[in-house]
Amino acid sequence: MGGEIYNPYVNAQIQFDNVADQINLDQSTRELLRQPSREYHFTIPVKMDDGTTKVFNGYRVVHNDARGPAKGGLRFHPQETVDSIRALSMWMTWKCAVVDIPLGGAKGGIVCDPRNLSMGEQERLCRGFIRQMAKNIGPVSDVPAPDVMTNKQHMLWMMDEYETITGGHYPGMITGKPVGMGGSLGRTEATGYGVIYTLREALKELNIDITSTSASLQGFGNVAEHAARLYSKLGGKIVAISCWDNHDKKAYTFRKLDGLDIEAMAQIKDSFGSIDKQKAAALGCEILDGGDWIAQDVDILLPCALENQITPVTFAKISDRVKVICEGANGPTTPDCDELIKEKNIYLVPDFLCNAGGVTCSYFEQVQCNMNYFWPKEEVLEKLEHKMTTAFHAVHKLAQEEGLYMRDAAYVIAINRVAEAVKLRGWI
Ligand code: GLU
Repeated sequence: MGGEIYNPYVNAQIQFDNVADQINLDQSTRELLRQPSREYHFTIPVKMDDGTTKVFNGYRVVHNDARGPAKGGLRFHPQETVDSIRALSMWMTWKCAVVDIPLGGAKGGIVCDPRNLSMGEQERLCRGFIRQMAKNIGPVSDVPAPDVMTNKQHMLWMMDEYETITGGHYPGMITGKPVGMGGSLGRTEATGYGVIYTLREALKELNIDITSTSASLQGFGNVAEHAARLYSKLGGKIVAISCWDNHDKKAYTFRKLDGLDIEAMAQIKDSFGSIDKQKAAALGCEILDGGDWIAQDVDILLPCALENQITPVTFAKISDRVKVICEGANGPTTPDCDELIKEKNIYLVPDFLCNAGGVTCSYFEQVQCNMNYFWPKEEVLEKLEHKMTTAFHAVHKLAQEEGLYMRDAAYVIAINRVAEAVKLRGWI
């Protein structure tokens, strides 16, 4: 199986088809839900600082909006493909459904590397995206948010362009905005915290004391950083973090066997989640190969970067000590690895449950924007924790009762909710 090229869209459809079989989903609903309901492909011409014009390709894919306005991030990545955006839009539908928020699923991507673009170029790219998509997105139709390599400043430029075009104030047209400009307190931490709320509940179910555990982390972007912070605060020990080095164009794993100081590591990373090698060495980190994060002798693996990282090839390196995998990233595990995880009896918190904290807080952001009244951070985090733990326990309970794998149990709940909405609307 080594060297296999995985297509996230095919993976998402395999996962869906397996569960559709298990729950005997009728043929029409199956056809409707195993593919996106609409998609947009567009070009964005951007005036570069050197006076030339560069044309970027972008996609926005809506998988399903039967339960509410489509919702999902917009990512900037040089290797983006329409198939990964299709997969991610499907996972957004299941994500919103499993935590039971009234939103559908969408995702967007622009093929670019913001690490090599000036702030002015990034701003023009964001505004260009809105000029292309203004007619097809909006607070009651499709609501973008940050994702890989996009941030609150990008969201604000997009909101500003949208409001300039439409001539009104529509802060609910996008989420993940800066606090004070329609953003919600807690949104920055939400995805990472959500990952750890589900991990904490999983450890309780497994009778494992979190303070006796150690973890290895892939990624050090926003999700990973806040997951690491909360896990450390709860007494866990992060021994390794793997992240991309844009200068060397390769990933490294930073390891400290007696535990990394997450605050100190956060101080030496850039805004895209790359850690400074020299400074890390000065902090006493060993610098290993990027792929070594998965081979560490730890209890918990936290893949919080990109898709297709846990494959049968990389899985072969996993220590026998690993008891839990929490998928902070979207689609980090390939379907052919699920069987191996089951065989090894590793407890899996699947991606669209594990990382649903971000979109849940985005939903709170929209609610606050609609009321034009903003909650204190404690209130946001309390509501987030409640949503995440409730969703986790519903999935865990179903998995226990029906003897299901956690990923399948999460799918059963999510697909049933979306299928029900489709049926009630009379689409099927
Ligand atoms: N990009 C995040 C995700 O994949 C958040 C989406 C949102 O807030 O709409 O879940």
